[in-house]
Amino acid sequence: MISVEEALEKVLGYVQVLDREEKPILQCLGQVLDEDVYSPINVPPLDNAAMDGYAIKAESALSATPTSPVFLDVIGEVSAGTIAEQEVGALTALRIMTGAPLPKGADCVVRFEDTDEAQLRSYRSPLSQIGILHQATQGQNVRRAGEDIAQGQLVLPQGTVLRPSEIGVLASIGKETAWVIRRPVVAVLATGDELVALGQPLPEGKIYNSNSFSIAAQVLRYGGIPKILGIARDRVDDIENKINEALSSDMLVTSGGVSVGDYDLVKDVLAEQGEVSFWTVRMKPGKPLAFGVIKGVPHLGLPGNPVSSMITFELFVRPAILKMMGKKNLSKPTIKAIIESSIRNTDGRRIFARATVRREGDRYFARTTGPQGSGILTSMARANGLVIVPEEVKAVKEGETVQVIMLDWSEE
Ligand code: AMP
Ligand code: MG
Repeated sequence: MISVEEALEKVLGYVQVLDREEKPILQCLGQVLDEDVYSPINVPPLDNAAMDGYAIKAESALSATPTSPVFLDVIGEVSAGTIAEQEVGALTALRIMTGAPLPKGADCVVRFEDTDEAQLRSYRSPLSQIGILHQATQGQNVRRAGEDIAQGQLVLPQGTVLRPSEIGVLASIGKETAWVIRRPVVAVLATGDELVALGQPLPEGKIYNSNSFSIAAQVLRYGGIPKILGIARDRVDDIENKINEALSSDMLVTSGGVSVGDYDLVKDVLAEQGEVSFWTVRMKPGKPLAFGVIKGVPHLGLPGNPVSSMITFELFVRPAILKMMGKKNLSKPTIKAIIESSIRNTDGRRIFARATVRREGDRYFARTTGPQGSGILTSMARANGLVIVPEEVKAVKEGETVQVIMLDWSEE
């Protein structure tokens, strides 16, 4: 048996960062940028008003107070998207809207609230002259040209993960498409004579193929493109045929057929056709786990039990997908929590116990989600974290502090 770390190292040692593709920026969400992006423009392009108000020269209003306003002639108005033709002088002001470029001559914007505009309106007086009620300072309420992004600046370096904010930044410099590392196509194959496809009646003794769906959903969630190959029966030829359909994918994930039973044929096919890296990992659930390479395609053979397949996916397939996508941070966030259940570890494997984690103040509490049988998929549905019980720890007791891998955050 090998450790979780050794197994992960072998998997990651084989998978490589994929090639790049150029796509419209919105489609790049969650992918890794594969170019240094420099800005061809200043953002904002011109000095402009941060508030609705009056563009003036700050020196015009040096003596302004609420009881002794400075009155300036209003020579026009400028709204966002237009350039004022007029120039502001010592005794004049230009009415200006948020985002409008600052007119020539002006060096600050006085908010409506700091003028007598509301009063003029209440008397229905024309806005031909405006009273400035407070001293103004140069640059006040002005956004400077290039204050967000300067022309020629490196805006986003290669390797950046594109989140909504980065997509927005790309749009702000007018960039329509970007070069990113492409998403891996992950072939998903379920194996087992007992499996029935969704949409079919369920004969006695059979079960629905749920693994293909939980696994494909995990692939999607972590940024891959699932290619569902359906169900292979427990026959060497059927498994071989289905595996051949996976050869154009970047990775093959199978479920079932990797333990020691007579019908566990995935490992035999792998051993014959591919190169097998390991069979068992010192963890629970998920001990029977295969990793191999079949005709150049990395293959992870997950155990058939629905919980085991999902947890081994989180631990080994997820980091592989992230690495292929060019990501650097491959681990899920881990927190410390106080455990409210006790867990026994009888055979020296690392336990990943499904748990519900909640926060109270600045502390986290974790409670296991009832029976931990690896066929009880609803226990996974109730869990938002995996409590780790290390190999050498015989038991954790209520009240102890444990490490928990977070699968989800309730805020998400
Ligand atoms: P195996 O690893 O092939 O021995 O499978 C172990 C157990 O996992 C089987 O007895 C099934 O109960 C369950 N199982 C295997 N494959 C699937 C699947 N695709 N969907 C749901 N359950 C499965
Ligand atoms: Mg099976």
